Amino acid sequence: MKADAIVVGAGIIGALAAYQLRKRGLSVLLLDAGKEGAATLASAGMLAPYPEGLSGEVLEAALLGLESYPELLAELRGLGLEVEAGFAGTQVVALSHGEGEVWGAAEPPSYPVRGARGARTFPGGYVHPRRLREALLRALAAMDTPLVLAEVERVEPGWVHGRGQEGGFSARSGRILLAVGAWAGRFGLGVRPLKGEALVLESPPEGRPSMPLFAGEGYLLPREGGVYVGATSREGWAPGVDLFGLRWLADYAHERFPLLEKARFQKALWGYRPMGELFVGEVDRGVYAAVGHGRNGVLLAPWTVGRVLELMGVRP
Ligand SMILES: Cc1cc2nc3c(=O)[nH]c(=O)nc-3n(C[C@H](O)[C@H](O)[C@H](O)COP(=O)(O)OP(=O)(O)OC[C@H]3O[C@@H](n4cnc5c(N)ncnc54)[C@H](O)[C@@H]3O)c2cc1C
Repeated sequence: MKADAIVVGAGIIGALAAYQLRKRGLSVLLLDAGKEGAATLASAGMLAPYPEGLSGEVLEAALLGLESYPELLAELRGLGLEVEAGFAGTQVVALSHGEGEVWGAAEPPSYPVRGARGARTFPGGYVHPRRLREALLRALAAMDTPLVLAEVERVEPGWVHGRGQEGGFSARSGRILLAVGAWAGRFGLGVRPLKGEALVLESPPEGRPSMPLFAGEGYLLPREGGVYVGATSREGWAPGVDLFGLRWLADYAHERFPLLEKARFQKALWGYRPMGELFVGEVDRGVYAAVGHGRNGVLLAPWTVGRVLELMGVRP
């Protein structure tokens, strides 16, 4: 097997990278191991540079991400691929006088929150990460680039070695991207998993917030006609949603938001955030890595992919 570029990992980073490379005429081999706990499949997808407290170069990268999404989504819509998203802003709701001062929370909250002392709306929004990934994979399939289910075991300049549905294989390329999320430690990169759990609740229209809303330890946003409530944070590998996480999320939703008191449970989600230092660079000749996106991988994906293309010498 041979391709102009091999992308290892099809979370939001790998799927978007493969899409942008293929769109520019390169042949792409996109490999994914189908790991349980991939972050993108559980992610809230908030585009919230300011409430997330980002600064410096990462804030700039995040603002670029926020700015890029409407165009990307319009492009996908043009291909008949609609992705749930909103760009009305993101709101921080202060729960104490001190918090109100720190955030300059002088507005009334856009959604009822028990104990609210004021709110502030920032530029921002959200996108549905799993749906976005699905849309990118469909667009890739339409460009003769199907996702290949395979686990990469070893990478060296020019080569990727792994195991697919038909056994061991090797594939050749001068451009290899590792976008393997929390599993990057296997390739010698300093990333560790931070498990996050979340709930999706069914809700009538009046129970849905109009934008992502941060209040205290958690947050809410619109999702699939209901409400996404997130999220827990626990270090380490521990698959699944446990009772501790479930109870925290249910109590948070129930106690903080009067409109959710009678909301019905739809599903629980979980995934491993890839924590560590954000790294987008070359790790060996022709081998690149885009890892360590932590809590902001969806927001940072457009910038990350732009940088990867630049490093690979591919026309932006
Ligand atoms: C609960 C939760 C809420 C979040 N909320 C937000 C948010 O509001 N805003 C935001 O911007 N970010 C958020 N994040 C973070 C964001 O989702 C992640 O930073 C982002 O999804 C990381 O994308 P990724 O492509 O690097 O990793 P992943 O989505 O984890 O994808 C990695 C892929 O690599 C594959 N893989 C791993 N090892 C191999 C291998 N050896 N061979 C082949 N394939 C392999 C896996 O199967 C997986 O599909 C949240 C995360 C969680 C868990």
